[in-house]
Amino acid sequence: MTEQERIDAIASHLSSILGLLGEDVTREGLRDTPQRAAKALAFLTSGYEVDADSVIKKALFAHEGSQMVVVKDIEFYSLCEHHVLPFFGKISVGYVPDGKIVGLSKIARIVNVFARRLQVQERLSAEIADRIKAATGAKGVIVLVNGEHMCMKMRGVEKQHSTTTTVHYNGVFENADLRTEFYNAIR
Ligand SMILES: [Zn+2]
Repeated sequence: MTEQERIDAIASHLSSILGLLGEDVTREGLRDTPQRAAKALAFLTSGYEVDADSVIKKALFAHEGSQMVVVKDIEFYSLCEHHVLPFFGKISVGYVPDGKIVGLSKIARIVNVFARRLQVQERLSAEIADRIKAATGAKGVIVLVNGEHMCMKMRGVEKQHSTTTTVHYNGVFENADLRTEFYNAIR
């Protein structure tokens, strides 16, 4: 199936869904909506097609030190896998290198690889942390995610101001002092 055939198939299903929601899909304003929405959904889930390891391995550099590296407040936009509604916020990543550091922009790209798919925030945190550790050979990685979930804000409990924080760590970040150092760095 070509990419255009895939978009056309998604658009055709979206057209049916809009009809079932009570819309007249032939009206002017909705004429191109199924195609546009299909392309948007394809983009928002394009992380499935990117190999996270090759993103990281293209930008590994030798480095003698073993002090913590922290990248703070990387924006992300994802879709919750329970409602297919957006959740979004900021991600901070800390890692302790072991002979190799990774280009800083690549950390942000790795965030996109795992955010641009259907997710839950807990797994998003874990996948970023564990993949960076595996691909860089870091001594440890910690990932803190603050997210706002539209499925909580727009429906159900309608909690407008709640945010969700998840933390995932591995390796040397089992050490609570090192986690405290990370939390101080991103505060
Ligand atoms: Zn949800």
